[in-house]
Amino acid sequence: MFDIIIIGAGPAGMTAAIYALRAGKKVLIIEKENFGGQITASPRVENYPGFKSISGNEFADNLLDQITSLGVVTEVNVVTAVKKTAGTFTVETESGNFEGRAVIIATGVSHRRLQVNGEEEHLGKGISFCAVCDGGFYRNKDVAVVGGGSTALQDSLFLSDICSKVYLIHRRDQFRGETELSDEVRRNPKIELCLNSTVDEIKGLSVVESVVIRNKIDNSTREISVKGVFEAVGQIPENRQFADVIELDEAGYIKSDEKCLTSCEGIFAAGDCRTKERRQLTTATADGTIAALAALDYIRIRSN
Ligand SMILES: Cc1cc2nc3c(=O)[nH]c(=O)nc-3n(C[C@H](O)[C@H](O)[C@H](O)COP(=O)(O)OP(=O)(O)OC[C@H]3O[C@@H](n4cnc5c(N)ncnc54)[C@H](O)[C@@H]3O)c2cc1C
Repeated sequence: MFDIIIIGAGPAGMTAAIYALRAGKKVLIIEKENFGGQITASPRVENYPGFKSISGNEFADNLLDQITSLGVVTEVNVVTAVKKTAGTFTVETESGNFEGRAVIIATGVSHRRLQVNGEEEHLGKGISFCAVCDGGFYRNKDVAVVGGGSTALQDSLFLSDICSKVYLIHRRDQFRGETELSDEVRRNPKIELCLNSTVDEIKGLSVVESVVIRNKIDNSTREISVKGVFEAVGQIPENRQFADVIELDEAGYIKSDEKCLTSCEGIFAAGDCRTKERRQLTTATADGTIAALAALDYIRIRSN
């Protein structure tokens, strides 16, 4: 029996683990694929207090080192459900169940898809959701980035250092991302803006060879030869598997209060997976702290 089971080893989950472990608790953290979560896709983090500049991977590695040295138990697995059973919780995974006194859900968000022709068959064959992870495969090649937020802008700038040319395809004429990033993108000679444009199709025999875009103003189409398509069109929460035990909002984020307590006593939510205004490292780690302290209170009160 674990004191606290944390689902998701992003910045929120790993911060929660630090607080729970330092309080002497037996902590299991279950991660389905990538210790560090989304931030491992960022080449440069410059807005986390105390670090003038740090790569996302280094940030994640530091967190993992910290919780490992504190004695966390790790499990690489996909959590499929959480059940409340007589005051404790059963966390179900694809291969086995774990028992805990309290649960912290920190599952973050995943990437939205374009849902266009040719997307499904080219996943992993030229379509990527992570410029930092896969950019190196496209050295000196032409690529496309799709999206208009900060991630699309960051991805375009990152890829412009590696690739010969970056087409940035965005359905509007203005970017949603930060002004500084957008200015930097507009100044970059290796980035060609394809504004007011949507993707009609991703083409290629076995791997991506081109992308067909449609101009929304005159309805004209253009086929651009690219070896890679980086999709950066938004994020979606992955909390459906918890809907039986906790309340989600309309968009699928976990409803929780100031203490990160969900609608089920003993289950806490931290980070990007919960309903909130801002999804950042600082807000994720703050949630991790709050959720862990609330979980510790919950365990203490129940054991008195
Ligand atoms: C490219 C990029 C750049 C960014 N740059 C910055 C930046 O410079 N500054 C900043 O403040 N923020 C930045 N962010 C945002 C920041 O990374 C996130 O806000 C933060 O990572 C959220 O942390 P989290 O722990 O809540 O979720 P995540 O980082 O999403 O971690 C959640 C973890 O849960 C795991 N998981 C999900 N479902 C399950 C399941 N069923 N079973 C087991 N494990 C599961 C996932 O695999 C993941 O590892 C950036 C994000 C991206 C994508």
